[in-house]
Amino acid sequence: MSAPSMIRSPTLPPTNNTTTSFSTTYSSFSSGYPYSSNMREEATFKVLIVGAGIGGLMLGYCLERAGIDYVILERMNHFPVPKATIQLTSNTLHLIEQLGLLDEIMKIAKPVSQVVLRKHNMAVIGKIDCLYVKQRMREGCVQWGRYVLEVVSGNGGVQCRCANGHVEQGDVLVGADGAHSAVRQNMYKTLRDKGILPKVDSECLKFTQNAIMGSTEPMDEELFPDVGKEFGDVHIVIGKESPYTMWITPALGNTINWCVTGPMLTTHRTEENFMVSGFGPEEAEKTCQMIKHLQIPYGGTLERLIQNTARNNINKILVEEKYYKTWYYGRTVLIGEACHKFVSFSGQGAEQAILDAVSLVNLFHKIEHPYPLQAITNAFEKYHLDRLPATKAAIQTSGQLAGLINRQGWSADFKRKMVFNLPTWVQAVSVDKMQVRPQLDFLPLIVDRGSKSVRSLSLKSVSGGQ
Ligand SMILES: Cc1cc2nc3c(=O)[nH]c(=O)nc-3n(C[C@H](O)[C@H](O)[C@H](O)COP(=O)(O)OP(=O)(O)OC[C@H]3O[C@@H](n4cnc5c(N)ncnc54)[C@H](O)[C@@H]3O)c2cc1C
Repeated sequence: MSAPSMIRSPTLPPTNNTTTSFSTTYSSFSSGYPYSSNMREEATFKVLIVGAGIGGLMLGYCLERAGIDYVILERMNHFPVPKATIQLTSNTLHLIEQLGLLDEIMKIAKPVSQVVLRKHNMAVIGKIDCLYVKQRMREGCVQWGRYVLEVVSGNGGVQCRCANGHVEQGDVLVGADGAHSAVRQNMYKTLRDKGILPKVDSECLKFTQNAIMGSTEPMDEELFPDVGKEFGDVHIVIGKESPYTMWITPALGNTINWCVTGPMLTTHRTEENFMVSGFGPEEAEKTCQMIKHLQIPYGGTLERLIQNTARNNINKILVEEKYYKTWYYGRTVLIGEACHKFVSFSGQGAEQAILDAVSLVNLFHKIEHPYPLQAITNAFEKYHLDRLPATKAAIQTSGQLAGLINRQGWSADFKRKMVFNLPTWVQAVSVDKMQVRPQLDFLPLIVDRGSKSVRSLSLKSVSGGQ
């Protein structure tokens, strides 16, 4: 595996560092963007990845293990510190173990024993048993501060041009740049201009509600007994009359992550909120005032947690969802939230981004020199077919979960009581429907260790292989 390389093109036009526009050109590189064969010293297949979120990082690491050349271009200058809990399930544990990351991850993760659903007054409605982990990625594989502004795609390959003038080129481009993906928007512009973009893909992300979240300082075990336990419980508290839901998750280092979602959190007009994907500190402060009276499972109110949360550890965001129909075109393909955005609290987004990465790397690994465009197109098509059933099931489940948790009224109460008190075997059947557990075809497979064996799906079993 060669180290990620940096290639500068002396013939590029000067860069305007202040511009935030992004454009894609699907043409020959000879028109102002030379892409001569001597610029590529090795005849290796090279993947450009835009975005170092969990999808982009996992893709990069899998490519590294596959011996495929790659570079990740990330607009931020540093590794973004997550301000929310990311819960991962057994769907991604095999892969994490296969990559040799499980022991390290377990050192920084807090295993979860159960999810407890509660009423506003802390009465328990029901529980679901589970075990999750948090994610980590090793350093040194990402080029920070690379705000990708332009993509040029042609017969010879694809180039990314960044705001600071840096140019990177490769055989394919993966848009792992999140829900507001510029790679997607510009790929869609090309398709719209050609009149082949499906109507549904022109529609905006569907805004459902707001969420505010925070991560406390280390808390006193005597006052908050949950934090000292090896296995934490996730508490979901349903609002009384106002449709809010509170999530409380003990995290590593005796900290507690809290999150409140609901339309009640809007402190000014929704249309204005819709223009931004995040809110400033003043908006977060106002929202804290609105929710500080909510009861928490440890006794007292949420104010106890808010008071112990540094202000820069509190975030207010929009909760959006959307499933895109078009995932690839030419040499560009999308993964993660760039092509499917789940409501954040459904616990699906990061997992599905990782599963996208596994599927794609298994296919890239089979593309042979000289990497013809047709082989790339076939790989993208197989990737889309492979991921379609699982991502559709996940978006359906996340919508149902959101409905189950957020709805008010006696019938919603009844449904919640039913679902969270189903016999264990019925819970297992529902969970089985979502089990995919794919692994990398080119590494030794990890054997199931759970109480029940679930077939590890790779592309060989999903789409007949290549
Ligand atoms: C409160 C909350 C709780 C959640 N809980 C869970 C959970 O329990 N389980 C779960 O599975 N998921 C959860 N999620 C969802 C999960 O965090 C996301 O689905 C996941 O992080 C998406 O990953 P991604 O790599 O697709 O995109 P992102 O994480 O959005 O990464 C995109 C990256 O691309 C970069 N970028 C964007 N544009 C450019 C550009 N032009 N040039 C260069 N770089 C660019 C961005 O800076 C960013 O680093 C939660 C989300 C929230 C908000």
